[in-house]
Amino acid sequence: MLCLSPIFRQSTSRQTSESAYRDSVRRFVAPPEKRPGGVNARILLAWVAYKSEQNAKNGGKAEQEASLLHVQQMLRFSTENQASAVLKRLRTSASPSEGPWLAVSTPSRGARGHAYRLGAAATASAPDWAACGKCLYSPSGLLTPYMFRPVLLRPPLGQGITGCLVIGFVDQFGPVTKTEIVGALSSLMRRETALKALRRAVAMELLVLEDDHVIAPRNLRERIKNDEIEFGGQSRAAFLDQQIGSRQFESQMERLGGATLERLKAIIRKLPCFYCATAAPPEGGEVEHFPPKHWGGGDDASLLLPICTRCNKSHGSRLKGTPKISRPVVTAERIPFDGETEDFGPWFFEFFLMRAVHYAHALNETCLDDARDAALRFFPTLIALKRGIPVVAVPTGEITTAALSDDLSVTSGAVGALEGLPRLLRR
Ligand SMILES: [Zn+2]
Repeated sequence: MLCLSPIFRQSTSRQTSESAYRDSVRRFVAPPEKRPGGVNARILLAWVAYKSEQNAKNGGKAEQEASLLHVQQMLRFSTENQASAVLKRLRTSASPSEGPWLAVSTPSRGARGHAYRLGAAATASAPDWAACGKCLYSPSGLLTPYMFRPVLLRPPLGQGITGCLVIGFVDQFGPVTKTEIVGALSSLMRRETALKALRRAVAMELLVLEDDHVIAPRNLRERIKNDEIEFGGQSRAAFLDQQIGSRQFESQMERLGGATLERLKAIIRKLPCFYCATAAPPEGGEVEHFPPKHWGGGDDASLLLPICTRCNKSHGSRLKGTPKISRPVVTAERIPFDGETEDFGPWFFEFFLMRAVHYAHALNETCLDDARDAALRFFPTLIALKRGIPVVAVPTGEITTAALSDDLSVTSGAVGALEGLPRLLRR
């Protein structure tokens, strides 16, 4: 960084008047007076209100899907039960006469969660809830930089939701005094909770006390990222994401007969890099096509594998120098296999994964012919399998459609098989 200017982002605005501070603090939109108990319930209600309003504006229904897994990930709960408890509280009547805060608008279908709309207790102040949600969750919202991130994990791994609210508030509206922080956030959390979160953030140097004002350091994001790694938040979050990812995947495979490609890629992005085992960053890594697109691969023909940015860049730059190759035309009607046909799918899959490993090594050594052979020699067989072309057992003549006939089962296997592969690579 070339930065020799003052360390603090808002240091110039310290000269502005007290009233300007107060004006900026007033831009924080608190939830309405009538609200459910607990900070998680309040921000979740604000989120549903804001997202429903957005969905309605875009021509959809005024509702928002909130599956347990999504809520768990969004608020960084360590179990699904915590997400379930918050949603249950919001679906329970505020009082016998007032009805619930949230109501199921479209019941869960397949792997999707329930879609919710505001319940009777919240509808009268729907615009206020949506405005609060916008302040928290719009692209420039106060909580948006921390959504899904490890920093949202409970202390000591992260700052928790209260810490992130305090940090986000200071980052957006600071410099502010302690009193202003406590006052503005009083609709979301108790005074002691806010002060405790503030003390923690200051102790971690995520916020800085200067005289009687609290300011966010210029490199706040960087500091948060470092803390996420140093205090184990990142690995804990990666572990949870992996669990959630495989649960999502299982339920999609089971109930829908397959995950959509986009969801599948989202799951793959959370896995450690297939080639170097680097953990995926909180926002997710990248998806590798093997064989690569440059050599005729694609979503429908290649294996999809998780890859880190560094490995992807190095592959990409080495591939770019080679001529483009178009996808092989597959005309075979049978794939002969010298063994039991039902073994063929898993066997070929493992075999092809090992070719991916070989390919990466060859690329690293710039042995391009070798890399091309590893990627392309059995590519027609992969395509044939993905298309469902039957396998015939040479000894018995038995014919089956191998397990790889489903486009996505290939990658489902990869998700399960990956854990072992980085170990293989380290040998
Ligand atoms: Zn890598």
